[in-house]
Amino acid sequence: MYFSKSFIPILKNNPSEAKIKSHQLMLRVGMIKQSSAGIYSWLPLGFKVMKKIEQIVREEQNKIGAQEILMPTIQSSEIWKESGRYEDYGEEMLRIKDRQDREMLYGPTNEELVTDIFRSLIKSYKSLPQLLYHIQWKFRDEIRPRFGIMRCREFYMKDAYSFDITDDEALFSYNKFFLSYLKTFKRLDLTAIPMAADTGPIGGNLSHEFIILAETGESKIFTDKRIFELDSYGTDLNKKSLENLRMKYEEFYSVTDEKFNKEEFESKVSEENRLKTKGIEVGHIFYFGDKYSKPMNASVDLPGGKKDFVKMGSYGIGVSRLVGAIIEAKYDEKNEVMKWPISVAPYDVSIIPMINKNDTAALEKANKINLELLKNNIETIIDDTEENFSSKLKKMNLIGSPYQIIIGKQSDGDLLEFKEIGKETKKINLAEIIRILKEQKAKN
Ligand code: ATP
Ligand code: MG
Repeated sequence: MYFSKSFIPILKNNPSEAKIKSHQLMLRVGMIKQSSAGIYSWLPLGFKVMKKIEQIVREEQNKIGAQEILMPTIQSSEIWKESGRYEDYGEEMLRIKDRQDREMLYGPTNEELVTDIFRSLIKSYKSLPQLLYHIQWKFRDEIRPRFGIMRCREFYMKDAYSFDITDDEALFSYNKFFLSYLKTFKRLDLTAIPMAADTGPIGGNLSHEFIILAETGESKIFTDKRIFELDSYGTDLNKKSLENLRMKYEEFYSVTDEKFNKEEFESKVSEENRLKTKGIEVGHIFYFGDKYSKPMNASVDLPGGKKDFVKMGSYGIGVSRLVGAIIEAKYDEKNEVMKWPISVAPYDVSIIPMINKNDTAALEKANKINLELLKNNIETIIDDTEENFSSKLKKMNLIGSPYQIIIGKQSDGDLLEFKEIGKETKKINLAEIIRILKEQKAKN
């Protein structure tokens, strides 16, 4: 992609309305554009990143045997009346009437709708477990939308639902999602810690929030620092090893403020290991048994001829919020340098040729390099403008491709100036650059 032809409207200065760095950067490089309070359009750069995050989320859901579906954004109020949440959900729910005067709503979550699909189509325990997920827009009429897409009204979420016959089997499903979340956030190069959490309006009795540390986060957390050292979890979907995995995390005190108890914290965690800080919630998993299946009459036939309500859990990931969360974790706002993890970077490499009027040699060289990179599935952006070097570098540092190739006076013959953001510039040839990039991309 040539920068001159791209739709990447970069602002000279930080927009004053943005209070946190992710919001600043997203407006600064034109990743999003607000359309009304808490509602955004996604422009090419932001959309590219979000789609890559979505794909990683999808792959990790598929790996645990979850099946993708797509439910609508608009739902009928009937099913919400059955579960009792139509009244309970309150003002966060956007209620709409259609031309027949039927009460509809823009889905803030999908427990009711998926339970309705399940009960009408699945009849026997033999079809269980069922793990279903979709990635779809949600609407919650948040009282204070803020921080750009971090807390907005319309947002993109992956939500999954599990259906089992026994508590034991249902916890097995829960633990599969627990593992898949650890793997998903790791692929996004984030350290997300599972914390025991309250279940809120979703209900139920077991729940973990996955939180990444950030001063600007809205969740208060209390944790044993040693939990950050845990990072091996394999890929084993065996019941026992998944249970052990969750227990390994649960050994360390780690809770959000609703679950916080000072005495417990101080007795379980030695002073040097206590960490009280803030974080961003990027995922949330719940186990709630028959909370929805019972009032909505979602049951299956059991082996002996009896019937029972299915045991359910639900599992959310804030796909659009993750774009902001990654920026909070990776953006060096002081030096105005962003480095996207290669797994979600909008471009893998920025090619920066030094172009003087009437001298197109550097641009021609950039074009040749670009062709070779594209052949190897390496995505590039070429700054083909005639701006000076420092302003080009400034722009590319904001766009945040993790690697840069600079084609200037220094680049003699086959050797190119190649830089990984945050590291020393190397002089190496194109074949070596391609080898490094392919190796880095393959790790994901
Ligand atoms: P929060 O406490 O931040 O309001 P929640 O507990 O209401 O989140 P869930 O219902 O568990 O959220 O939704 C699943 C995920 O969707 C959250 O972990 C979060 O990443 C994301 N999410 C929730 N509300 C918003 C919002 N208003 N804007 C952007 N993302 C959101
Ligand atoms: Mg909320």
